[in-house]
Amino acid sequence: MKDNYKKRVAAANKKNRKKFLKIPFAERMILIPQCLRNSKKCRAKESGPFFICADCGACKIKKIREKASRLGYKKIYILKGGKIIPSLFEKDKPLAVIGVACEWEGFLGQKICGEFKIPVQFFPLSRDGCADTDVGTDAFLKFIEE
Ligand code: SF4
Repeated sequence: MKDNYKKRVAAANKKNRKKFLKIPFAERMILIPQCLRNSKKCRAKESGPFFICADCGACKIKKIREKASRLGYKKIYILKGGKIIPSLFEKDKPLAVIGVACEWEGFLGQKICGEFKIPVQFFPLSRDGCADTDVGTDAFLKFIEE
């Protein structure tokens, strides 16, 4: 089952790639799952459907936020779940999206982006689960530079 979604998200990434690369950083949004936080040390504040990072450095989100901000990304959200995504698109009107998630959530996110005709690039968690997940930081930081 997991392999099936893996293939589908990879195919959607490939299909969207050219369009995605034409969109400047200032028009792109990054969506990060809350499970990437350090569940024991995180100081982020809850704000409705999001967490607002306090940049404590106990997880990789701090580095990701810093790099995205240096590059001039339009928005970066730490999401509690995917239900809020359509209203974020309506509010912020991103022209491209990068989503970090497990394959299943990535598949659902790509579907939403497809409905909004927003080119999306999915980046998989290197360890998934409900809490304390992980992502390849170097690879992801390079990915958001392209
Ligand atoms: S860097 Fe941000 S999201 Fe990560 S553990 Fe610290 S406050 Fe939480």
